[in-house]
Amino acid sequence: MMKSWLIFTKAFMLFRLIMKACILEKQSKIEERPLRLANVPSPCPANEEIRVKVQACGICRTDIHIVEGDLPFKKSPLVLGHEIVGVVDKTGKGVKNFRRGDPVGISWLHSTCMKCKYCLKGKDNYCPDFQCTGWDVDGGFAEYVTSKEDFALSLKGINMEPEDMAPLMCPGIAGYCALKLTEAERGDKLGLFGFGPTAYYVLMAANYLGIEAYVSIRSSIHKKEARRNRKIKEPDFFLLFFPLFISLQLLYKFNFLYYFILNGAIFLCKISYFCNLLRPVYLH
Ligand SMILES: [Zn+2]
Ligand SMILES: [Zn+2]
Repeated sequence: MMKSWLIFTKAFMLFRLIMKACILEKQSKIEERPLRLANVPSPCPANEEIRVKVQACGICRTDIHIVEGDLPFKKSPLVLGHEIVGVVDKTGKGVKNFRRGDPVGISWLHSTCMKCKYCLKGKDNYCPDFQCTGWDVDGGFAEYVTSKEDFALSLKGINMEPEDMAPLMCPGIAGYCALKLTEAERGDKLGLFGFGPTAYYVLMAANYLGIEAYVSIRSSIHKKEARRNRKIKEPDFFLLFFPLFISLQLLYKFNFLYYFILNGAIFLCKISYFCNLLRPVYLH
């Protein structure tokens, strides 16, 4: 009996009707190992959707927030993961821009309403009706995932390993977006507060663009982390002021930094209060 069940499962897998996925059925502390590897039905692409064979999927702090219940559980079982790189495996009706075999990236933004004032201005991540990959809909901790054609990123012509590209789909995008919002240019000074994956990519881009970057880090572990990667030019120096708003006041007083990128909305009011001449920018 067991054997015939196995044969059936293998046959289903062969026809891509069943896939392996890491599923979350109940939120709990990560130490309790709440993710479980299971055989689940493969997703089928709807109209204007593509199905992607996942090659790599990064792990984000947001995934841990969902697992541990800091963010509400929207569906169960849930496949997490929103830093996805893979190749198109199947296209739904009406797909125009992708073909089977095309390399693609899938990020946090699964879909938006496409008609509210934010969507119409290209600020879709402010859309009140946006849906998230690996939260509202299943994500990339699986063999296959589906995505709206309009929200998948073509990775054609990019010569990088999938596992190197995957984190670009979340901290890479968020960091680049914040850097663009500062409108910083060559020779300008840029302050980064905290040094997580987002700042890592902002720093790389800032160095490449000739923007002078300063990093403020409280934790010595993160400081080591920032210095360890030799591919990155050493930031000019590290500011170790604490607490944050005092450091901002000092920087403002000396007219030292013009742009800030902060990893958290909570500090926005403090920045605008203390540094009203600066251009505060924060990430998602
Ligand atoms: Zn993320
Ligand atoms: Zn919208």
